[in-house]
Amino acid sequence: MTAPFWTPPPEKYAGRLPGKADLVVIGGGIAGTSLLWHLARRRIDAVLLERHHIAWGASGRNAGFLLAGVASSYAEAVKAYGRQKAREVWEITNENHDRMIEAARGQDVGHRRRGTAVLPASEEERALLIESEQLLQEDGFIARWDGTRLINPRDGEIDPSAMVAALARQASAGAIREGVNVTSLTARRHGVTVTSGEDMCEAGVVILAINAYTPQLVPSVKIQPIRAQMAATAPESKSVFDMPVYSNFGYRYWRQLASGEVLIGGWRDTSLETEKTYDDEPTPEIQEHLDRAVSELGVKSEVTHRWAGTMGFTESGLPMAGPLDGMPNVYICAGFTGHGMGFAFMTAKGVAESI
Ligand SMILES: Cc1cc2nc3c(=O)[nH]c(=O)nc-3n(C[C@H](O)[C@H](O)[C@H](O)COP(=O)(O)OP(=O)(O)OC[C@H]3O[C@@H](n4cnc5c(N)ncnc54)[C@H](O)[C@@H]3O)c2cc1C
Repeated sequence: MTAPFWTPPPEKYAGRLPGKADLVVIGGGIAGTSLLWHLARRRIDAVLLERHHIAWGASGRNAGFLLAGVASSYAEAVKAYGRQKAREVWEITNENHDRMIEAARGQDVGHRRRGTAVLPASEEERALLIESEQLLQEDGFIARWDGTRLINPRDGEIDPSAMVAALARQASAGAIREGVNVTSLTARRHGVTVTSGEDMCEAGVVILAINAYTPQLVPSVKIQPIRAQMAATAPESKSVFDMPVYSNFGYRYWRQLASGEVLIGGWRDTSLETEKTYDDEPTPEIQEHLDRAVSELGVKSEVTHRWAGTMGFTESGLPMAGPLDGMPNVYICAGFTGHGMGFAFMTAKGVAESI
């Protein structure tokens, strides 16, 4: 069936646009619910507006990998951002993993920390991973090249929809309002007018947590929507791989749940242009690649779910966090470039603290 594998959060948070609010968060994914969580700890009253339901976007459709760093290897990140910045990015994503799981406060979010294996798909990638092992170890991170793959023992995996639900459950009554589609923002020196159809809200501050959808509200923001596709199988009785696998510069990834299902995603590199879209339907072309890969991995169970989601890519590959240029009282927490589960909780902390 063409639906995400993950069960949507069971709670319903139906609501309306309030007439007035000190702070409005727009978007009910991992970024928005993390923002609400951090703002509550700072005793800042906030209202979260979500046009569908929480975890409707990429946060309820992803692979649930909790990886350190960005899509590229540490060696590439060092070249792109410099050694110091790359180290900071790896540190903050490691911290994101720990702090986000703590914030779930014992609720079952499917968390396992078995590590991840980065499997090279070419000689070039192999050389970068071997170099990454050396650089990571020099910078104090745990990583091991085992002769065929780079093992990152600290990495983990979760049920991303359950994670969003776990954060949302801790919000105060009435703070989350589903079914509110924000149609425009007018930023002024003393506040922001938020519009949803005929309704209007005078907000002190607005934080945009709508990732790929940011340009739909603020066209000047340079975030590119990119579709990513996945498939999941029925439970496989045997264990097929020992830990989640990430390969071909992040374009291919698969994992097996404790209950046996195999989740596989990626292959966007076979059709880069068609995947630059807001259309969140899976396509036969990419799904055929996923079917072939499932069979090549020796998985016998049938595919039960096929789906797609929309990621938001920035030019730098790093998230956008903080005040938005030219729009007083509007902040952004978005552009996770396919790694929001690994970044958003700590990015949200930084944005909440800057307000
Ligand atoms: C197939 C796939 C696999 C992925 N795998 C991984 C992975 O393994 N690990 C990882 O770290 N990341 C992964 N990602 C990326 C990750 O899912 C995203 O980076 C992350 O979920 C972004 O979270 P978000 O809260 O910023 O955005 P979203 O989850 O997209 O949430 C944005 C929300 O804003 C709402 N919204 C939009 N516009 C409006 C509006 N005008 N008014 C009100 N509400 C609005 C939407 O309905 C949506 O619910 C993957 C993504 C996909 C698609």
